[in-house]
Amino acid sequence: MACKDPSVLVIGAGLAGLAAGCHLIKGGLTRVTVLEAGDRIGGRIHSVPFGDDGETEDPATVELGATWIHGKGPVNELAKTFDLIDCDLTEDEYYGMYVGSNGTKCNEELVRKAREEFRKIIEELYGNKLSASSKTLYPTILEYIQYRLDQVVETLPDNDRNEFKDICRTLTKVEEENHGAALEDVSVFIPDSITPGNNISLTGGYSALISRLAHTVTDKRIHLKTEVINIDYTNPEEVNVLCESENGAIMYTADHVIVTISLGVLKNDHQILFNPGLPFEKIASISKLGYGTASKIILRYKTPFWSQHEGMKLVWRNDTTESNTNLPSWAKCLYTFNAMAANPYTLDVWLCGEEGKEIETIPNDVIALVLTTVLRQFLNDPTIPEPDSILKTSWFSNRQFRGSYSYIRVGSTVEDVRILAMPLVAKDNKPVLLFAGEATDIDYLASTHGSLNSGIREANRLLMRQMNTFISHVKPC
Ligand SMILES: Cc1cc2nc3c(=O)[nH]c(=O)nc-3n(C[C@H](O)[C@H](O)[C@H](O)COP(=O)(O)OP(=O)(O)OC[C@H]3O[C@@H](n4cnc5c(N)ncnc54)[C@H](O)[C@@H]3O)c2cc1C
Repeated sequence: MACKDPSVLVIGAGLAGLAAGCHLIKGGLTRVTVLEAGDRIGGRIHSVPFGDDGETEDPATVELGATWIHGKGPVNELAKTFDLIDCDLTEDEYYGMYVGSNGTKCNEELVRKAREEFRKIIEELYGNKLSASSKTLYPTILEYIQYRLDQVVETLPDNDRNEFKDICRTLTKVEEENHGAALEDVSVFIPDSITPGNNISLTGGYSALISRLAHTVTDKRIHLKTEVINIDYTNPEEVNVLCESENGAIMYTADHVIVTISLGVLKNDHQILFNPGLPFEKIASISKLGYGTASKIILRYKTPFWSQHEGMKLVWRNDTTESNTNLPSWAKCLYTFNAMAANPYTLDVWLCGEEGKEIETIPNDVIALVLTTVLRQFLNDPTIPEPDSILKTSWFSNRQFRGSYSYIRVGSTVEDVRILAMPLVAKDNKPVLLFAGEATDIDYLASTHGSLNSGIREANRLLMRQMNTFISHVKPC
């Protein structure tokens, strides 16, 4: 039978862990502790000040992790209650000046047409509009996009076709950002996770949302620099969680443990983390689902050389391959220099999948040099300066994350997400190990909406159990 105020350990102080902790505390539980391996809260949400050079107006707050609230979902509601939404800070991911590697601007009419057609295709993919036979014929996102773009190309005059295809190759790279992986790896059996609406940034940075949640959980309950190295649930009455901390090894015990560590960490460490090992079905889903890497390089300039709010989309033209031969291969995968509405002095560059991993190993001065060469070529302007400062993420090499976010890899389905989310339950139906985190949310896999939902879902699982037990034991007068 459930006890009145069970002890709960939440592993991970990212959005999912803090949402779970906050919800449990608001639901009346008092014995809640959050264990976090890192020295900060927020996990893959990490806003930092950048570029306080004393000359530009103010140091910008930049996002190393989550950047936007994607469309509409539960994070919008939460951010609204904390007054963190600024409707002026919205971005369209296809927006920007489209420039070719031959140093000329792309034909604006073709850019408009490509954006419009590409958006339609993406809406088909995420709006559950694909027939079963289309999914069988085109099992990856890349194959479906290519099939549909070929249809559009057929309708264009011969002279426009090559440029249209080049522009669409850039848009295809933009879509990789949603998965952190090459699109030939991403299944068409995806959840309906991209919600309508623009991308919205948060005033004060994404971490402001985290601080508000942490306020409810309180510092006392969040144990930083406390890395869980083993979860022993042999005895379902009392789960033992062994941690390494600054003060050496510590053993925590609890009635329930909510695990919110990333799918990347689960893939890498599940064998050593859990005793007994996880059930076969869960291990198979952990292994089948994809976990990508999206890397960001953030550049700060004293004087912006781009028009405000409008970044650049790079279109690699097939007719300029010779001048590109001196560039490293990762540079030929560059496709965007985003201008951020909130940060007029910074541009940010994304690279996903294998290039995203590779970039983590390259020194910043080399990156700055290559990016400047690329910008000079595309803008046909040899005076473009080198950035004053550069910041680069390292989500893949960080063993607390091992990448950026999950996706439905070819060979996996949303059923694997459901299996990952299933709690491990003792004989008396007591949920002993519960699983939250973006990778466990079918509706909003990969995004902060998913993390928030999943943390609340698992907190509710425990709160409902409390409620049901005590209501069923109330004796009628
Ligand atoms: C570059 C990048 C850009 C992104 N952009 C967006 C975006 O624009 N919009 C969006 O919605 N989402 C975006 N995301 C995804 C979003 O950031 C994540 O989905 C979300 O923050 C994940 O939260 P979580 O709580 O599920 O996991 P996490 O934030 O990973 O939290 C898990 C926590 O567990 C801790 N941990 C790991 N191992 C242990 C251990 N052994 N012991 C104790 N603690 C441990 C980690 O340190 C971490 O703090 C982005 C992510 C990245 C990396």
